[in-house]
Amino acid sequence: MSIKYVAEPFRIRSVEPIRILSREEREAKIKQAKFNVFQLKSEDVYIDLLTDSGTNAMSVGQWAGIMSGDEAYAGASSYTKLEAAARDIFGYDYVQPVHQGRAAEKVLFPLLLCEGKFAISNMFFDTTRAHVELAGGRAIDCVVEEARNPGVRAKFKGNMDITRLEALINELGAENVGVVVMTITNNSAGGQPVSMQNMRDVALICKKYNIHLNLDAARYAENAYFIKRDEAGYEDKSIKDIVAEQFTYADTCTISSKKDGIVNMGGIVGVKDGSSELVPKVKANCISYEGFYSYGGLSGREMEALAIGLYEGIEEDYLRYRIGQMEYMASKLDENGVIYQAPVGGHGIFVDAKAMFPHIPYHEFPAQILALELYKEAGIRCCDIGSFMLGNDPDSGKQLESEFEFTRLAIPRRVYTQAHLDVVVDALVAIKDYASSIKRGYRITWEPEILRHFQAHLEPIV
Ligand SMILES: *Cc1c(COP(=O)(O)O)cnc(C)c1O
Repeated sequence: MSIKYVAEPFRIRSVEPIRILSREEREAKIKQAKFNVFQLKSEDVYIDLLTDSGTNAMSVGQWAGIMSGDEAYAGASSYTKLEAAARDIFGYDYVQPVHQGRAAEKVLFPLLLCEGKFAISNMFFDTTRAHVELAGGRAIDCVVEEARNPGVRAKFKGNMDITRLEALINELGAENVGVVVMTITNNSAGGQPVSMQNMRDVALICKKYNIHLNLDAARYAENAYFIKRDEAGYEDKSIKDIVAEQFTYADTCTISSKKDGIVNMGGIVGVKDGSSELVPKVKANCISYEGFYSYGGLSGREMEALAIGLYEGIEEDYLRYRIGQMEYMASKLDENGVIYQAPVGGHGIFVDAKAMFPHIPYHEFPAQILALELYKEAGIRCCDIGSFMLGNDPDSGKQLESEFEFTRLAIPRRVYTQAHLDVVVDALVAIKDYASSIKRGYRITWEPEILRHFQAHLEPIV
């Protein structure tokens, strides 16, 4: 059954024109871009669903805040305002601004990890994994089995597999596990939520073995909305209370504010206990990598906008509309038999390209085919989260086969309307109808050694 679109809880007073090129022009542009969507110019894209990170539309309140930012080097009032908002919402004593999520990881992780230590997560986001490894550690994913099957609907598919977590700790030795990272929502599994019960269980295990627990909380507000919607006992709690409870279970948090903070740039490291010996060390790393600890790589105006965005991001009407956009698209895809990671998660639709192109092998990149068809069909930009992104085995140099072949349509916050989403759905359905006529995929003609999907050149196999 079709789900009704939740009308925007805002009106639009400033617009940014976008244009749609002709099909012939788009085919020329994508060829010039070497069939890599990251090489396209934004002006040649009609609907840009490449990421929900930093692509948010700010409110009038945030823009007003930009004008009153305090640009003092030390002790700016904008820092005090951000600190107060973050303490109020997350409940942590120490609030360290940084310029984005990966900067938070760079500041905190070397304090928890070193050569020979392990980090275990429900699922590591790619930069989070990279910072575990840069700190000398090894990263292990430990997500529940249900996450691995896109077509199977289950609640809280982002959860940690707690039986396996405890087995891993015993196997590796608790003293060798430097940190457990709870990622909310579970981005790599498709923006899937984690239940409060699961966070509580993981916290208990960490306490039992005396292991540090960090919350990788880019999408804490979207996660809280799912808990309110789907977890028994939380129906009547406020989003603010649910958000706060999530944070009580961890010792520290790393946050990319480019997501639920509804800003274009920003991040936070939080330490629950202000008397922790971590606090002066976080400050010291921040001063080295980001800037003095009362601004941490952000300008005063950016901290001001973030302090306001933190409150807007936990408003219930906003979250109902936001998750409503995903539910609306998902119901249209259900009606048309397009398979995606279901039920839909918090920040986008992860279409199962393996299901759409069952005849195309992983080494011809089915999820990349779908991303390129969406651009050619309707000027939509999105990306492969599959074998093309995964890359080669560092030892053998052979193409790895990804567990998923997802084409991710990430939805920027407060940016696109119902009509835009209909364009996206119509394009997906049109492509599904001609998918069997596409016989071959793409080959790579040039690639850099790491994170190749951002730069690689491709060509169609004929
Ligand atoms: C985006 C993200 C990060 C990294 O944040 P950046 O702001 O992009 O540096 C880390 N973890 C998760 C779960 C994310 O979604």
